Amino acid sequence: MSVLESGSLAALLTPAHHALRERARDFFTDARLAGWREPANGPLTGRAWRELGEAGYLGVSLPTEFGGAGLGVLGSLVLGEAVSRLGDVGLPLGMHVQNEVACQWLVDADPVLRAEFLPRLLDGRLVACQADTDPSADEPTTAVRDGDDLVVNGAKLFVINGAVAGLCFTRVLLDGSPAIVAVDKDRPGVRVAEVYDKLGTRSADSARLEFTDVRVPATRVVSSGGVGRHLRWNRVMTLLRFLIAADAALVHRRLLDRVTRYAGERALGGRPLAAWPVNSHALARFRADLELVEAGVARACARLDAGAWPVPEVAALKWFCVERACALAAACCDLEGGAGYMWGNPSLRDLAQLRGLRMAGGSQTTMLTITNHSFAARAEWDTAGVAR
Ligand SMILES: Cc1cc2nc3c(=O)[nH]c(=O)nc-3n(C[C@H](O)[C@H](O)[C@H](O)COP(=O)(O)OP(=O)(O)OC[C@H]3O[C@@H](n4cnc5c(N)ncnc54)[C@H](O)[C@@H]3O)c2cc1C
Repeated sequence: MSVLESGSLAALLTPAHHALRERARDFFTDARLAGWREPANGPLTGRAWRELGEAGYLGVSLPTEFGGAGLGVLGSLVLGEAVSRLGDVGLPLGMHVQNEVACQWLVDADPVLRAEFLPRLLDGRLVACQADTDPSADEPTTAVRDGDDLVVNGAKLFVINGAVAGLCFTRVLLDGSPAIVAVDKDRPGVRVAEVYDKLGTRSADSARLEFTDVRVPATRVVSSGGVGRHLRWNRVMTLLRFLIAADAALVHRRLLDRVTRYAGERALGGRPLAAWPVNSHALARFRADLELVEAGVARACARLDAGAWPVPEVAALKWFCVERACALAAACCDLEGGAGYMWGNPSLRDLAQLRGLRMAGGSQTTMLTITNHSFAARAEWDTAGVAR
């Protein structure tokens, strides 16, 4: 069983989704992932991205008129299910950035820019990253106009795909307002200052990028200024957060299946662990969570596929799915006793992956802030009778 078998999503799956599901199940194997990583247990190489492109796993959700497979958000979820089995959330995060974040920026960008980059993103010759996190609020990355160019200065932290990427969708302050600029990494002044060692999500690199007097043509601005920028930013991030929520939901089911088996087999004090009320109630609560988590993912997926942009709902969903999966992973480690502390333990490994999802796509605290502000704003509009 998986979230894709839940009633509402199962009904939306087309023959093309089913075909992708079967194909991806065979393609994404532990052996293939191991062959893609360098060093062992490290991030994906550039060659892996080309193989992903050649095999048709890049641009799955993108409409066909832009060169994608046209399978929508549901297609990304189908792909996410197959990739999730590999047990490392780095690869799905890296693929979401390539498939959804980068492609979405380019779909809405100037056609010349799109033609320059999109085909190479789809065949994996080019990898993208989203460079967003500044060292602090007082140290924003800036872009200053100079003739027909922009000059970019600043640093970005913890960027997924940052080392392997050739193209950075970089959030800058331009003319005092936030903007997104596509910066190619081979320009003078762009430097990978650090590739972080990290707890989980290791199949994608995380890097610190530095930009020192980097010149790019002003035509590289993919989004800037005003309400339009805000809406586009929200759309891109909502897509990413939805997929992160779905990643957590997939891990939740895997953890619950495994711990249910384990607690049924492991006997302590004359009965299985699962037969002690304290444990059976805990497992029942996590099962109840799974019902809500999968229903939320199915509902959000259907809404996104129908063209809606439920920004606060998806922020709340990401918060809930990640919180509950983290709590379950920690409980699984406890139930497995000392074994749950040993590095080879699958629950501990999942916990390490899930910790990354607490920050990826925006922190859990930020998800609550978005939810709170958006619902408060909607309530004000409704009271004032403003159409939305
Ligand atoms: C696995 C992973 C993948 C990532 N991928 C990317 C990526 O691809 N690109 C990228 O640019 N960044 C990426 N990040 C970075 C991530 O987006 C940030 O770490 C996250 O947004 C938090 O920002 P920060 O690290 O600067 O922490 P801080 O901003 O210092 O925040 C620290 C903590 O304080 C909380 N906090 C902040 N402000 C407030 C407040 N006003 N009130 C209460 N609490 C507050 C935050 O929610 C957070 O929990 C990734 C991080 C991880 C772990």
